[in-house]
Amino acid sequence: MREKSLKDKVFTDISDNIKLIKENVARAASESGRKFEDIRIMAVTKTVSPDMINCALSCGIDLIGENRVQEYLEKYSHINLEKCQTHLIGHLQSNKVKQIVGKVSMIQSVDTIKVAEEIGARSLASGIVTDILMEINIDSEPSKFGFSPASSLDSAYKLSQVEGINLCGIMCVPPINTDVKTNRQFFLNIHRLFIDICDKKIDNVSMKILSMGMSGDYYSAILEGSNLIRVGSAVFGARKNE
Ligand SMILES: *Cc1c(COP(=O)(O)O)cnc(C)c1O
Repeated sequence: MREKSLKDKVFTDISDNIKLIKENVARAASESGRKFEDIRIMAVTKTVSPDMINCALSCGIDLIGENRVQEYLEKYSHINLEKCQTHLIGHLQSNKVKQIVGKVSMIQSVDTIKVAEEIGARSLASGIVTDILMEINIDSEPSKFGFSPASSLDSAYKLSQVEGINLCGIMCVPPINTDVKTNRQFFLNIHRLFIDICDKKIDNVSMKILSMGMSGDYYSAILEGSNLIRVGSAVFGARKNE
């Protein structure tokens, strides 16, 4: 029998990983009274090669997330884009906005009004409206990006006034060194914020996406109301060169 090539092995691993994630998502969805189809699974592709990304797409992944504009621009022409939507999920500097507007279907990591205005202006100039999420800085760590929880409602109103963007929900990243239990409390708090903003029914705002949960904590994020999880290492294995 022919020995499996390393490439075959990597592809089998990705396929097995995705199967497992889907099973977990189905369980967490049903535990929280929802359906599997209600939860979107994003494969986070930072540092991952286009070959591996295309493998994930052939295994049924239809949404990918990249952190860095430069890396995305280098890779995206090699990615099977008919099979997926792409979102930007990493901090975006204003001076990079013009390079990315129109090239991703959503920018999840909008963390200031200023960058939102730049996205809006660039979108209008290209005759499009860009879907965005507002990133909430989950525990108001000064070193992290995002709107503070306390300012989030006010910021949602401000974002609703910016032309050329469509606010579709919230994304958040918990602090790095917290455990799953602590994160679950964060997720609960963010879900409350999300509901509060939904309830205001702000004009030009369609709060429908709550993007939270990564490889280590997506199960509890779904239990607390997430409907879009962002999983990287759980799909592709540990990242080597970050
Ligand atoms: C890297 C990253 C992820 C995925 O992290 P994993 O722990 O590998 O699943 C999700 N969201 C953001 C914003 C990231 O930068």
